[in-house]
Amino acid sequence: MTETLFINVNVIDGTGTAPFSGQVLVKGNRIADVARDGAVIDASNAVVIDGAGASLMPGMTDAHGHLSFLNSATLEGITDLSPERLVLETAKNAKLLLDHGFTSMFSGSSARDNTDIAIRDAINAGDIPGPRLKAATRQMTVTGGFGDIGKTDAYSIVLNGPQEFRNACREAARIGVDTFKIVPSAPGSVGADVLAEDTAMTDEEVAAVCEVARQRNRNVAAHARSADAVKMCVRNGVQVIYHATLADEEATDMLEARKDSVFVAPAMGLPYGRLKDGEKYGVTTSDYMRARAEKEIETVSAKMAELKGRGVRVLPGGDYGFKWNPHGRNARDLFMFVELFGFSPLEAVRAATQHGGEIMGMAGELGIVTQGAYADLLLVDGDPVADIAILQDRDRFLAIMKDGEFHKSPPEDRAQIQVAAE
Ligand SMILES: [Zn+2]
Repeated sequence: MTETLFINVNVIDGTGTAPFSGQVLVKGNRIADVARDGAVIDASNAVVIDGAGASLMPGMTDAHGHLSFLNSATLEGITDLSPERLVLETAKNAKLLLDHGFTSMFSGSSARDNTDIAIRDAINAGDIPGPRLKAATRQMTVTGGFGDIGKTDAYSIVLNGPQEFRNACREAARIGVDTFKIVPSAPGSVGADVLAEDTAMTDEEVAAVCEVARQRNRNVAAHARSADAVKMCVRNGVQVIYHATLADEEATDMLEARKDSVFVAPAMGLPYGRLKDGEKYGVTTSDYMRARAEKEIETVSAKMAELKGRGVRVLPGGDYGFKWNPHGRNARDLFMFVELFGFSPLEAVRAATQHGGEIMGMAGELGIVTQGAYADLLLVDGDPVADIAILQDRDRFLAIMKDGEFHKSPPEDRAQIQVAAE
């Protein structure tokens, strides 16, 4: 069994506790031992990596990305490529995510029914590099709901009534998805307010999706912006709530009451990217869109700060996969958590690691540096707790390990590899 011993590392263990100087031993695909306070791990057969003070932290999880959205500028353009070409391009994004320190992704929906599944299975078979992946369905929406773009080969599927949702979920379970993605929200019909938002799905439809999910042991993730949509989701047992923009007091109370079983991902990459990077990526932003993005950031920032204060798990995952919000920028979410939501850097890291392991369904075994956990580890040049922004720079990752194997091996000049004496 391969053994790797990291020495002289600043361990950020993912749980939010203070970092410490120590050693970490990996055997096979698990963390076999963690030492601190000058303690030494005896591992005479291990390859020794001298971190020389670099930080060692768990690999990050993105809770809302679309690997098969190829940085399209429009929703219509998501399915422009043939299914075959789309899969090949998606594979590149899977590698890119790993290159940027994300060893897990909870998909926010797939461009076509089989794309996420094919990529996940190829990654698990060792055929292509990529993060651990929870494969999602296409967005399941209703007539006139968000994502109903009047096109047959679209990134959304339009369903109406509980039976159609039930059938679609059963088919999705049969082909092997992990997550049913639904869209209870619709664009608002009240023109005066830039954040106006309607609720489009019915309680019976959401209940039908959650019923199949329970029977088949799948996750449900929902694009829920209106207060009613959030409440409908929490009431029926949706585990992952995206946006939660307009959650009112009652919805916030409901989220808090379910804090041990629900996750929230604000998915602010799109509005933030539009304001900050729109021009850079050649996207024009109308005054309306600018006002909406600014209002969205303001509203969501306050809401996420409140949810964190109430103990609700809020996770990074910013809808990456669009022209002005491309794949690879994902760690910008951690920066936004600190800058906008009032998270400490340690809390932001915890959201992306320990809570990431929990949303991946591997609580206590993924996203933490502890004995027995899976060895998904990042060796970082510098201290993310001192400057969370460094996680956005892939060159800072001296080494990237997933499931005990190096995706990126440490360079000899910064982290010396020595084979311990026999
Ligand atoms: Zn999304």
